[in-house]
Amino acid sequence: MSDLLEKYVRPEKNPGTACKGCGLRLAHRKVLEAIDELGLAQGDVVWGTGIGCSGRQTFVTWKGDTFAGTHGRVYAMATGLRLALPPEKRLILTVGDGDAFTIGFLHLLNAARRNVDMTVVVFDNLGYQSTGGQYGVTTPLGSKTDSSPYGAWEPNWTQRGFDVLRILKEAGATFLARHTVLQGHEPVDSLKQAIQNPGFSLVQLIYPCVTHYGVQALGTRDLATIYDWFRERTADDLTADENTHFTTGIVHDAVGSRVEFAAGLREFVATVQKGGGNG
Ligand code: SF4
Repeated sequence: MSDLLEKYVRPEKNPGTACKGCGLRLAHRKVLEAIDELGLAQGDVVWGTGIGCSGRQTFVTWKGDTFAGTHGRVYAMATGLRLALPPEKRLILTVGDGDAFTIGFLHLLNAARRNVDMTVVVFDNLGYQSTGGQYGVTTPLGSKTDSSPYGAWEPNWTQRGFDVLRILKEAGATFLARHTVLQGHEPVDSLKQAIQNPGFSLVQLIYPCVTHYGVQALGTRDLATIYDWFRERTADDLTADENTHFTTGIVHDAVGSRVEFAAGLREFVATVQKGGGNG
């Protein structure tokens, strides 16, 4: 067991539930690296999980306090915890792309609107892989999946001018970033900024699913081939071209620009108690 896993992950939950070769373990590790580099201990973080591959891999793995919610509810639960917990306690949520950008999206948008201090880490495996590999809103166009045998054709939220992170920016999020897990330390740097933001942060971490996306869309389970496919389609804003599927980097940094929800509410309650109000 590596030092990092030994330090933060419950021994009975290691090595986790991800399939052999899945990039999810790498994604999980990036979050632990960020926590470690920030010098946070088990008691400094409360870790929430959604469902699907990401939820299963991270569910009750953190040695400190944890909680779990079905699609989207984890953001509402985190909002309640944010009000109950001391502001310095970090709330980190690991969810999937369905949890974040489809089924749970309304809850996510409202957490961003309120600028609730939480860090949402979206482990994006490009579709509904835990149920056998159906296409979703981040599945690259043309991908053959269990539910798109002739290639995914409907518009997704990451290509041809769409970007789901821009919607979150408009909703009020104060820190947004996107990376693949194959980008070395870059995702860790963004995660550290996200965790330190006293407001709503989201980091989308795209990772390769070997069992379904690899086999169905790319025709292989070979890790080197799959990793090359991802690397060839990843670029930052400045170097992106028509072959780019994954535009990466910090998408929005407005840390400190808005009042955080719990802090604002406490201030408002104090005003009301003194006989004031908002109107
Ligand atoms: S189904 Fe795919 S994404 Fe899920 S754990 Fe297996 S390889 Fe990873």
